[in-house]
Amino acid sequence: MQKSIERIAGDSEGAFYEFPVFRFEGFRLESSGKSASSAYLQAALHAGELPGVVAIDALMPLLEKAEAEGRIKGNITVVPQANPIGRAQYHFGEHQGRFHLGTRTNFNRGFPLLAAPDATLLPDTTLATADQRLKTRLLQLSIGHDIVLDLHCDDEGLAYLYVHASLWPDMADCAAAMGVDAVILWDEDTDGTFEGASIMPYLNVPADVARFDRRVATTVEYRGILDVDGALAGADAEGLYRLLVARGVILDQALPTPGGFTGIVAPLENIDMMPAPRAGAVLYDVKPGDRVAKGARLATIVHAPGEASGRTEVFAPQAGIILTRRSRRIIRAGEDLLKLVGDRKSADARSGTLED
Ligand SMILES: [Zn+2]
Repeated sequence: MQKSIERIAGDSEGAFYEFPVFRFEGFRLESSGKSASSAYLQAALHAGELPGVVAIDALMPLLEKAEAEGRIKGNITVVPQANPIGRAQYHFGEHQGRFHLGTRTNFNRGFPLLAAPDATLLPDTTLATADQRLKTRLLQLSIGHDIVLDLHCDDEGLAYLYVHASLWPDMADCAAAMGVDAVILWDEDTDGTFEGASIMPYLNVPADVARFDRRVATTVEYRGILDVDGALAGADAEGLYRLLVARGVILDQALPTPGGFTGIVAPLENIDMMPAPRAGAVLYDVKPGDRVAKGARLATIVHAPGEASGRTEVFAPQAGIILTRRSRRIIRAGEDLLKLVGDRKSADARSGTLED
């Protein structure tokens, strides 16, 4: 394993950001003569989302053991903390890792959507802002890997994946290996998420180049922001390891082949985001994982405390499963209360890009 340090120039003289990259070199050739699948893993692109960081911390000893035993077949690149800019952002004492304060841009938007999976097509960011330099470098590090995993988390939620429809159901083995609860399928990305930038270029190249049968690109939502926990990290690390074995990156004959995926699979258009009708304090009736019937009360907003008409109730527009909810209980009118994965298409589906 080799460790190197990436350096991203800041927006002023004397300021720069660093993050480590760990590389494991695969050496075994498949019997066909083709190289084994390679993998790229990154965590904390949204810099405060740490379940993936501790999962990678727990995964590294498994990778080092595999390397010591000569079982790493495909190259593996690991970036445990992908966003040193966001990691350093504190605003009035609160960490702000989702948006770049200098540009107000979401760190998981604005990645270049290349016409083909070719790093020479990446834009020159010499005169761009530091967050754009970081995004371009992360994409450059990941391009060319067959497996690209971007580890995030939600507010409060189940463990779930976003997967481009072109990779499903081929990626069912990955979802099973990771042991996630749900998979959300999406179609198009015009906003430039990291996942979108990792898969969309392959839609433009011939099938024998794109190799969708062996390609993996996913945004992994490791539950909620507070689910930074040793036992969960260990279980998630084992899930990542199982995926790498299932896809032939690591050899481990002791590991059984993953079974079929039995969790929820739904298109993005089935998700109801449930905007709050009023601002106030949220009293939830449901939590992630709950199955709800159409018309069930999801939450009550206390907008005028102590007054007879001071409460507004919110009901399920259709039957489904609660995927996520907010971790804070203060809400403004129009902000999303939760994600309900409906059994059918949502009446107010916000079509398009994944919501991470
Ligand atoms: Zn995120």
